[in-house]
Amino acid sequence: MTPAPLPPRANSAETMRRHWRVTGIVQGVGFRPWVCLTATRLGLTGEVGNDASGVWIEAEGSPAALDDLGNLLRNAPPPARVTSVTEENALTHGMSICTFRIAASRPNGIGASALAPDLAPCADCRRELLDPYDRRHHYPFLACARCGPRYTVTDSLPYDRACTSLIEFPLCPQCAAEYADPGDRRFHAEAIVCPLCGPRLRALAPDGELMAETSAAIDAAVAALEGGLIVAVHATGGFQLWVDATQPEAVNRLRERKHREAKPLAVMVKDLTGARHLAHLTTREEELLADPAAPIVLVPERTGSPLAAAVAPGCGTVGVCLPASPLQILLLERFSRPVVATSGNLSEEPLCHEPENAVARLGAIADLLLVHNRKILQPADDPVLRVMAGEPRMLRYARGYSPAPAGIPLPVNRPGFAMGGQVKGTLAFVRDDAVVSSPHLGDQDTVLARERHATTASALRRLLRLEPQWVACDRHPDYAASVAARAFPLPRLEVQHHHAHLLAVLAEQPALPPGPVAGVIWDGSGYGPDGTVWGGEFLIAHGSACRRVGYLRRFSLPGGERAIREPRRSAFAWLWETLGPDVAGEAARHFGMDAGPMGRLCDGAAATLRTSSAGRLFDAVAALTGLCQTARYEGEAAILLETSAASWLGTAEPYPFDIRPSGEAAVRADVILTGHSVGWRLDLPELPDMAAWEVNTAPMAAAIWQAVCNHIPAAQIAARFHVTLAAIAATVAECIGLSTVVLGGGCFQNAILLERTAVALAARGHQALIPARFPANDGGLAIGQAFAGAWLHPPT
Ligand SMILES: [Zn+2]
Ligand SMILES: [Zn+2]
Ligand SMILES: [Zn+2]
Repeated sequence: MTPAPLPPRANSAETMRRHWRVTGIVQGVGFRPWVCLTATRLGLTGEVGNDASGVWIEAEGSPAALDDLGNLLRNAPPPARVTSVTEENALTHGMSICTFRIAASRPNGIGASALAPDLAPCADCRRELLDPYDRRHHYPFLACARCGPRYTVTDSLPYDRACTSLIEFPLCPQCAAEYADPGDRRFHAEAIVCPLCGPRLRALAPDGELMAETSAAIDAAVAALEGGLIVAVHATGGFQLWVDATQPEAVNRLRERKHREAKPLAVMVKDLTGARHLAHLTTREEELLADPAAPIVLVPERTGSPLAAAVAPGCGTVGVCLPASPLQILLLERFSRPVVATSGNLSEEPLCHEPENAVARLGAIADLLLVHNRKILQPADDPVLRVMAGEPRMLRYARGYSPAPAGIPLPVNRPGFAMGGQVKGTLAFVRDDAVVSSPHLGDQDTVLARERHATTASALRRLLRLEPQWVACDRHPDYAASVAARAFPLPRLEVQHHHAHLLAVLAEQPALPPGPVAGVIWDGSGYGPDGTVWGGEFLIAHGSACRRVGYLRRFSLPGGERAIREPRRSAFAWLWETLGPDVAGEAARHFGMDAGPMGRLCDGAAATLRTSSAGRLFDAVAALTGLCQTARYEGEAAILLETSAASWLGTAEPYPFDIRPSGEAAVRADVILTGHSVGWRLDLPELPDMAAWEVNTAPMAAAIWQAVCNHIPAAQIAARFHVTLAAIAATVAECIGLSTVVLGGGCFQNAILLERTAVALAARGHQALIPARFPANDGGLAIGQAFAGAWLHPPT
């Protein structure tokens, strides 16, 4: 945003007064103290304060010093992140104060608010934590103006201690003195505490009985980890379950108790040196691990790493993170081996964040609970990223990132919010030119998950002071979030699933591409307006208008949901469709399946559920190559196929395929405006007329079946399958003939698929837009749905 033009100066030699408004991540990051010190150094007098839209500054002094301050504001040091600065000269009446000071916060404000996400301990706080002569030595709750809990402890804005759960801990005289001293690094640090006045740690037995307090609680937790026991740790955004990651029996016990058979577990290590023992790290990955967000980073595991095989079985990659809180630093200073640090929940349930119900919910899993009395007001899971095609890409948006606002390339006319999808649920709020995503809220299949969705929606409304005037959701009528959306007496935007994936990628671009774009959107499944299950789609889209102009050849989903859990069913159905019942029957014998019932599910009128899903195609190939016949968690088949392909890539050639006119018209998948929408209007830009293409995968199926019969190594088949999909994407993009191609959908969490597709598109002169800031998977749907509001107009 460009600053407002300044009125001419009356007399540059005079003392002048100027007013600034600054937005971005400017609350809870030491921004006001920094402004105060900077302005004082420039010889200015005045005030700086928070309000619900950011920070305001009123300063008086020489025009040159005011100009200097303005320039410095635009380049404030991290972790502050300034997105806009507007300035205005004001009349000078002589300030009533002769210094520069921090003013009381103003509760009013407009525009996008910017509460900081939680920040891992800064270098100074780490030093104090481990310094035996410091008064906060080994105190697991220390924080300062530049680090500590933020979103997770905040109830409302402005971000002042009174609006956080720290209000329960009145400052002791020493902390109060630091808070008031402009020269102290805890000057106006809202989350500061010390052992005298702050929260306390307790160790509880699984039945809730108190075992130890303060440092003895840490001793008890370390002893439990040493003994291979499971410890529930009250972390920044919720509970984590910890166990020694190098003890196979300990990891297996955690898996059994958590009912998590094989899904990879994240590992926390003390520092980068510890991470290098486990994984091959690039500079980019090391920077990401050390980021104040302290994310889990998916990295290639070293052969011979000390991790138990059960941590990430068959994956080749492992999720690694560094401590995000002083408590985690202390535990890993004492227990120096890597630990599994996985979300503290029962499978399918949302993250547990309250000590009171941790005993009830986690007591059956953990042998010891390490809890404290600093309340988590906004639970947030740990974020997950992966460096792909040279850049960090979000896989799970969560603590450390939410609720930072992100700019969108086209502003919305009225504030609104979006409900997200069914799996990997999130919410998004949008106002003016910024969108805010909630942290990951998990699959919306349980009552608890839906409750978490609803409470997060009201908390974010309050935090952002945003009164939504419209709501957006998926077009799937039965998604829990879509059902909930219909209950609001608001205009409702229903956005087709794959169009929302595409819009999410456009939302994070600095500028919208002019005219329509093509989309290659590949995932598990989404509601198709033509009555089939979509998932391997080629779209053209322009704003809220969208057409499906191509798809992967459809096949049946024998048994519906069961086909998703059993990749061999997709393999059978794909071969039945492409090569006929005889080959499918042979494959069934190969899998030890009874071909009769399966064939009846694929045959004729019985085969009502048909899909173009790319995710199911990954399942089919994973089953045919013997890598995964029955999936133990969502996405397992694709992960195993990618891992296998990684060992063969150098020489892989694509399998044959052909692209033919489908004989069907392009299917309209425009955003629909419905609900309480009288007088509201949705722009629907014109799209070029285009017939639809079908990608016939039969030649590839024949080649793969032949390879399987000839005992060709799975790795080679997997590698050739990946490059075939990349070639398909580029060839269809050429048929569509638009220069910009958006990649989206959960399949693009696969590094080989993403990188190969981007290269294949670039080789044919296309510009590929790839998701980075928000997930390619369904965790990004809410962002895309929210961005659809940019084409919505209120009644005039
Ligand atoms: Zn700090
Ligand atoms: Zn204190
Ligand atoms: Zn999806």
